[in-house]
Amino acid sequence: MAARIIDGKAAALALRERIAERVSELKNTKGITPGLAVVLVGEDPASQIYVRNKGIACQKAGMHSETIILPAETTQDELEERIRELNEDPEIHGVLIQLPLPRHLNEEKALAVISPEKDVDGFHPVNAGRLLAGQNTVSPCTPKGVMHLLDIAGVELEGKEAVVIGRSNIVGKPMALMLLQRNCTVTICHSRTADLRSHTRRADILISAIGKPGFVTADMVKTGAAVIDVGINRVDGKVCGDVDYAAVQEIAGWLTPVPGGVGPMTIAMLLMNTLEAAERSLNE
Ligand code: NAD
Repeated sequence: MAARIIDGKAAALALRERIAERVSELKNTKGITPGLAVVLVGEDPASQIYVRNKGIACQKAGMHSETIILPAETTQDELEERIRELNEDPEIHGVLIQLPLPRHLNEEKALAVISPEKDVDGFHPVNAGRLLAGQNTVSPCTPKGVMHLLDIAGVELEGKEAVVIGRSNIVGKPMALMLLQRNCTVTICHSRTADLRSHTRRADILISAIGKPGFVTADMVKTGAAVIDVGINRVDGKVCGDVDYAAVQEIAGWLTPVPGGVGPMTIAMLLMNTLEAAERSLNE
């Protein structure tokens, strides 16, 4: 049986429409416009495109957006000072630092300067700690998008075996915690995992966040599993995921394509986190 393909593009579009409605309601009833500030240091061309896309997405949702472009030679103190200013700016509800930063800057320190209330990426140690403690918090956008896709596809989570390949702070670890929160039995695999296949073949839900094209082959997948491909790779100028799509499609119960799967959800969840930060600011 061929897998049901989870259409992330359609899901993201629907979510963005709902976000735009909530933004408009917030403006009309409370007089506030959710605002996102994106800080870019240097002139990395890929980062410039990501930042521009985030600004466009904000504007389409009716949100206020600011892009702060700092020169590549910006010092740590200068960057942190700019972030503190944004923390104090009442028009800004979300602050995001576009990563990676130039090598002379300390990402960890810079991220920790963002006020946890305005940390729409969910990377601040306070928010990461809240996620670990199972508290209500800002969740990182990509795993939050994956959870949304699993939910709209109707994949049952409670009591199921979930295997996450990848242990980054951005995707793998928060992904595992969110699945645990929904009562999955979770295994985190990584580059040093022995006999990876023995783990992945047990998975009812298999999440791949590695960054290696064609890595997840059909023999690694349990029949009927929900396979979510977070990977973004470029092969011969074409974008593909970590999963051997054509072969796994024959085995899995659900599968996300790349492009058009998790990718569009990430930006939708960034808008959602900004909207929620603006809504929370009303209660402070
Ligand atoms: P990362 O490089 O920080 O982490 C990769 C992880 O893969 C590591 O934890 C590593 O242990 C694991 N890994 C590497 N080789 C492995 C192997 N042979 N066997 C098992 N595990 C292995 O990357 P990241 O930031 O977590 O991103 C992972 C992928 O997801 C990348 O392709 C990235 O482009 C993509 N990504 C996509 C989105 C999106 O919006 N769809 C967002 C973030 C990242």
